[in-house]
Amino acid sequence: MPAVTVDNLLALPRLAAPALDARPRRVASITTAPHGLEGEGFPVRRAFAGVDLALLDPFVHMDQMGEVDYGPGEPKGTPWHPHRGFETVTYMIDGTFVHQDSIGGGGVIENGATQWMTAGSGILHIERPPDSLITTGGLFHGVQLWVNLPSHLKMTDPRYQDIESTAVLLATNDQGDALLRVIAGTLGGATGPGSTHTPITIVHATLQPSSRVALSWPTTYNALTYALAGHGAVGPERAALGAGQLAVHVDGDYLLLESDAANPFEVLLLGGQPIREPVAAYGPFVMNTRAELQQAFDDYQAGRLGQIPAGHI
Ligand code: MN
Repeated sequence: MPAVTVDNLLALPRLAAPALDARPRRVASITTAPHGLEGEGFPVRRAFAGVDLALLDPFVHMDQMGEVDYGPGEPKGTPWHPHRGFETVTYMIDGTFVHQDSIGGGGVIENGATQWMTAGSGILHIERPPDSLITTGGLFHGVQLWVNLPSHLKMTDPRYQDIESTAVLLATNDQGDALLRVIAGTLGGATGPGSTHTPITIVHATLQPSSRVALSWPTTYNALTYALAGHGAVGPERAALGAGQLAVHVDGDYLLLESDAANPFEVLLLGGQPIREPVAAYGPFVMNTRAELQQAFDDYQAGRLGQIPAGHI
């Protein structure tokens, strides 16, 4: 159950229904995220595995972290590591992650907060549960999304944005049966707090059981729905979508989502203006060419991506 909820959906601002002549986006593919381990061994699902990068553009990678209820001593994080050429967006649905980076950014990300880190020309960072959570164990559920940067911004200065859970814009659909948490970008005129380098929309939606939700979506954006929990259907085809599955939506003006009768349906809605540049990605770097990747490794080896700060966690 997500940390950010409301008692009364009908008290929220309502988004307009799509125009009568609008067309629902059809479903191009449904894929199931394989399980993996990240960092020091925390469980993730690789949400975009097997999907053509052109359909994901401007996104390149996403991990669903958990949902896992850790026992005492079990919570794990990552060691210090570098990034260049893109942004990491870490959204904590439940639980706590601590972050620190080489440009002085960092803090606690918890219970509905998002950390938006622009690696740009280079950064080192560490992401881990706080000591208190390692001691006690507890619920941990989040998402880390990698957002590409266009070539002219790959070497921009690194930047850190902290988006508190209270800053997330809450709205509902025209019929008032979905909680829409707009983290960044615009959904039907509602704009979230995240500042993005290229046009992007990120929304965490909770559909009440047995609802049918139509949400306007910019025709020039790509469109992805990833099911975090629960089960439902998407598109005019009513294609089945369940936890750990990703739908790619194409051709149209709005997204159509349905939930089954049993449980709320937790869905992440992602889209943006495609960058349409060559992608050379390897490990922690996302560049345009192999030569730029080699340069990133060389610069990291030479300490030019930053230094682990004194007094680090
Ligand atoms: Mn990282």
